[in-house]
Amino acid sequence: MSVELKSAVELEGMRQSGRINARVRRLLWDAIRPGVTGLELDQLAKKAIKEHGAEPTFVGYAPMGKPPYPGAICYSVNEELVHGIPAPGRRCRPGTTGPDRALQEGDIVTIDLGVTYKGWVSDAAFTAPVGEVSDEALALVETTRRALWAGIDQMKAGNRLGDVSSAIGAVAGGKYGIVTGYGGHGVGRKMHMEPHVPNYGRPGTGLRLQPGLVLALEPMFSAGGAATEEVADEWTVVMADGSLSAHWEETVAITADGPEVLTRLD
Ligand code: MG
Repeated sequence: MSVELKSAVELEGMRQSGRINARVRRLLWDAIRPGVTGLELDQLAKKAIKEHGAEPTFVGYAPMGKPPYPGAICYSVNEELVHGIPAPGRRCRPGTTGPDRALQEGDIVTIDLGVTYKGWVSDAAFTAPVGEVSDEALALVETTRRALWAGIDQMKAGNRLGDVSSAIGAVAGGKYGIVTGYGGHGVGRKMHMEPHVPNYGRPGTGLRLQPGLVLALEPMFSAGGAATEEVADEWTVVMADGSLSAHWEETVAITADGPEVLTRLD
């Protein structure tokens, strides 16, 4: 497996992209309230990204014969795990609210954002509560966020990739489903690069971590089973059993001084 190591100059490019990503995510976080739709949040993101002289990485993304992705963000509500499209043509699991999936008090919503600035990609996500949410939903959101930071703490030169993966998975503590079909990844001039970063693993195994390696870590946990399925819009991924799910992501560089979170919110 060949992994790309960034020079100091390249890392500065990644840093600038990450800073824009954080500013736009902050705007999105502050805009979340009952009644807001994914389409509205997507328009907000597109405008803000443009104002920063950057581009929305996700727009037009079309891997493996999929229809081009229409949004700047992914907007995934409750049992939707990832890749919820914030656009007309969105489909939901039967029994949920209409296709625009306007936010309702008590929902949790995951916003994933990719920003490209001067060719450098940053990728990050959060799950936010909408108004007052249940203790169970809040615990899932907080535990998934804690798992991300447990992984980040292991992003040290000399550690192995398995140390990062196992630290993330350990936080689920057998209480939450760990989604295995998706995970973190290398990131740089492209959004998805080697290596893949599973959200479970064994310490002391896998790739040796070195300064200059940049990874997007992204734990995804569910309150029920870990199986997922894709709905008819060919993008939106939902938990197969309809359980609540959460997803947090940051783009993180390994430096000689330890992990540097490039997309960190202010
Ligand atoms: Mg990612």
